[in-house]
Amino acid sequence: MRLLIMGPPGAGKGTQALRLQQLLGAPHISTGDIFRANVASETDLGRAAQGFMDKGEYVPDELTNAMVSERLSQPDVEAGFILDGYPRTAEQVLRLEDFLGRRGLALDAVPCLVVPRDDLLDRLTARAAESGRADDTADVVMHRLDVYDRQTAPLLDLYRERRLLREVPGTGSPDDVTRRLFEALHRTVDPADEATSA
Ligand code: AMP
Repeated sequence: MRLLIMGPPGAGKGTQALRLQQLLGAPHISTGDIFRANVASETDLGRAAQGFMDKGEYVPDELTNAMVSERLSQPDVEAGFILDGYPRTAEQVLRLEDFLGRRGLALDAVPCLVVPRDDLLDRLTARAAESGRADDTADVVMHRLDVYDRQTAPLLDLYRERRLLREVPGTGSPDDVTRRLFEALHRTVDPADEATSA
């Protein structure tokens, strides 16, 4: 299965994507994790990305697209993938489609975790205290949510129009959310599609 998991920062995408990785046997590909690994090992890519990440800004599309193309060219992706945190801009959507289309592939579904803004702020503030992630401080958290609203939330409409979007409440226990995600993914035939093909 080729999935893209969407949702705002703090929605729990990483936790759920890891669970889907175990359940589906397809690799979890998180652009945030790849960037953080590059920052930690002080690669050129890490040095180029760090300033953007620390401010809660998106890393430029050119760098991000090149990194993802390289990752999606690895052999383990033949089993499918769970993309987490990419695409985040309209330009990245086009690049992903182009990359997959050239290989005769496409996304199967786009599950999206829906969490109220107040819960996101609570979760991100708690994570800031625990993780010490440079981009989890209060100001940067607010900015990341704004950037998401402006640049990434509009992409949901696009995936909705393509009947790929599966919105799932991201509240409750992680087990509850995983169960809902699975239910949403097992609805393989969208009722609207069924109506048109009948
Ligand atoms: P995340 O862990 O997914 O919240 O990502 C952490 C940070 O990595 C983001 O705030 C961005 O600075 C950068 N990043 C991750 N994915 C992307 C992307 N698709 N496009 C641009 N920047 C990204």
